[in-house]
Amino acid sequence: MLLDSYRHKGMRKALCQEIRDKGFSNEKILKAIDKVPRHFFLDSSFTEHAYEDKPFPIGEDQTISQPYTVAVQTELLDVQKNDKILEIGTGSGYQACILVELGAKVFSIELNRILYEKTKQLLAKMNYYPKLFLGDGSLGLPSFAPYDKIIVTAAAPKIPDGLMNQLKIGGRLIIPVGKGEVQKMICVIKQDNELTESSEYGSFKFVPLLGKNGKPL
Ligand code: SAH
Repeated sequence: MLLDSYRHKGMRKALCQEIRDKGFSNEKILKAIDKVPRHFFLDSSFTEHAYEDKPFPIGEDQTISQPYTVAVQTELLDVQKNDKILEIGTGSGYQACILVELGAKVFSIELNRILYEKTKQLLAKMNYYPKLFLGDGSLGLPSFAPYDKIIVTAAAPKIPDGLMNQLKIGGRLIIPVGKGEVQKMICVIKQDNELTESSEYGSFKFVPLLGKNGKPL
């Protein structure tokens, strides 16, 4: 049973404060983090730790991102109400729910069938309905393109070919890029079909993006 107690709500407020103390100040995003019960996304052995600002295992060798990382990636995405957003790497579904809370139309693709099934069931129970897909997101999700924004929540060796083609002009891609343990967060804005502008924001640690345009399986 999914139970959100006053104690959990209190821990969520403390988590938001911890993220603020790290220098994050976007209150709209903090409000979404305050709203989404992160302990629902973790296996019972980790629920006590759900409101620590850390990544945790979600099975299948994958992790739910650290809340601070979710906050930063979401801010870089500059979510506007009704934005059509593609998330690559659904994982636990937590990041997708934050985007839904911000009013986005979310399309999220996951490569791992077990996680895909588990997350689909959980989100339905929580009454969150992003559109979930099973497949290799290193190729994007061309059938529903173009998107206003694309967020990749796994480390890509390089920006996968073809992703920029699935963005609208003026759209942006947020992606951790790097082959080693630590990646740089990259924000690419598509200015027109030829021209793009990209900037780098800090170092983060993600599990690898697998698949055809990711790390070979
Ligand atoms: N956004 C997630 C964090 C996911 S961790 C959350 O909020 O919990 C990264 C996820 O990317 C893992 O679930 C992994 O299975 C998935 N992944 C890795 N390569 C992928 C690919 N090519 N396409 C789609 N998902 C992929």
